[in-house]
Amino acid sequence: MRLFLFDVDGTLVTARGAGREALARALAETYGTAGTIERYDFRGKTDPRAVLDLMTEAGLPPDAIHARLEACFAAYVRELERLLADGARIALMPGVADLVRVLAGRADALVGLLTGNIEAGARVKLRPTGLLPLFRVGAYGSDDGDRRRLPPIARARARAASGHEFPPERVTIIGDTPLDVDCARACGAVAVAVATGQHAAAELAAHAPDLLFEDFADVAGTVARLTGDG
Ligand SMILES: [Mg+2]
Repeated sequence: MRLFLFDVDGTLVTARGAGREALARALAETYGTAGTIERYDFRGKTDPRAVLDLMTEAGLPPDAIHARLEACFAAYVRELERLLADGARIALMPGVADLVRVLAGRADALVGLLTGNIEAGARVKLRPTGLLPLFRVGAYGSDDGDRRRLPPIARARARAASGHEFPPERVTIIGDTPLDVDCARACGAVAVAVATGQHAAAELAAHAPDLLFEDFADVAGTVARLTGDG
């Protein structure tokens, strides 16, 4: 059995800026400022990390940030649901819907999510795709603000859901940023990078992922490389 863990933004879908817009409104409502969110680099960051970075930079003390974090994320999810209500801003990356379906249909694979999104936010972004039921497990920004701590959480949940053990070498982490590669390296998982987000393939190659894809448009070829078949 192999566990395949997919990142969300830039890997499965793009929400065309809806996440930034929703968080900006939630921060302003909760803390009275959205800080420098318009130029914040969200790529590969967890949601809690983004809030802590932005509000610390805006001069708020840590206690004040943490005390209102739950309220901030409640407002964020409400705004995200409003912006994505008709699903029109959500676009799937090339090939990923079929890739997830094929992997989820294999007897030797378990498919899940590993994302910096808080769980409720990931669900709102993925709901329009119809793929949510195929992700049997997940580890989210709401579990830990440090992405490197998410793989053990996903592995424990995968074991509970399937009864199978997933040692690090049987875990594949798929994402669109150097921080996804770093996350896989930190836990000994196979690192797969895909250039469908905002990092070009050459930029990702510099971080030496085990496998690098421009996109997943060639589904059969991608499955063969990811599973070692063929
Ligand atoms: Mg991403």
